[in-house]
Amino acid sequence: MQERSIAIDGPAGAGKSTLARALAQELGYLYVDTGAIYRTVALRAREAGADPSDPGQVEPLLDGLEIRMDYGPDGEQRMYLSGTDVTKAIRDNEISGMASKVAALPGVREFLLDFQRRQAREHDVVMDGRDIGTVVLPQAGVKIFLTASPEARAQRRTLELRQRGQDADFDEILRQIRQRDEQDRTRPVAPLRQAEDAALLDTTNLDLKGSLEALLTLVRERLAL
Ligand code: C5P
Repeated sequence: MQERSIAIDGPAGAGKSTLARALAQELGYLYVDTGAIYRTVALRAREAGADPSDPGQVEPLLDGLEIRMDYGPDGEQRMYLSGTDVTKAIRDNEISGMASKVAALPGVREFLLDFQRRQAREHDVVMDGRDIGTVVLPQAGVKIFLTASPEARAQRRTLELRQRGQDADFDEILRQIRQRDEQDRTRPVAPLRQAEDAALLDTTNLDLKGSLEALLTLVRERLAL
């Protein structure tokens, strides 16, 4: 039921997925990372050699596109494309940029809307993304807009990639984050923006523990727990 859902939106690297996952665990809700779904579409576009900005090349791929998700024993959300586990493959940096491009295509957004809403019909969810509070779950009981300065976000993303053993250059990541923010904020369909009834949480000067405490306080107030 949408009214019991928690919607968390915000730009790349604001800590949405880490915090949303922890919040879901705390409340016994299901965590849905919607960025992973756009990433899976981007991976399909890359496999097909399609230009991710061209609706004429991407939209035909939606016909017969087989995307599935489930949860591992540790609660990790896993994504499958045509039956293949792509959970790790969708995390590479090139896919981040491509996901933002396919996400600007109205046909892709329309196609994924029902998929996302279904999760909230079937479970109590903490769902994170860019347009959850504004478009996907406008009736969500709690809406949070999570943000942080571009520098703080680039710093976190750099560390995260290095921890995964990938090369990461801070300046390049900062440039990519700014570019992705710009793409996500200025697209005509479902742009990244704070819903009018969303609470703003800026985590620039908060560590993970502090951010989670602030988030839990906001959610408890709003859910009257
Ligand atoms: O959250 P994440 O960085 O994994 O998302 C990848 C891209 O998918 C974002 O840059 C954004 O363009 C797109 N996205 C979106 N709407 C969502 C979730 C993600 O447009 N609800």
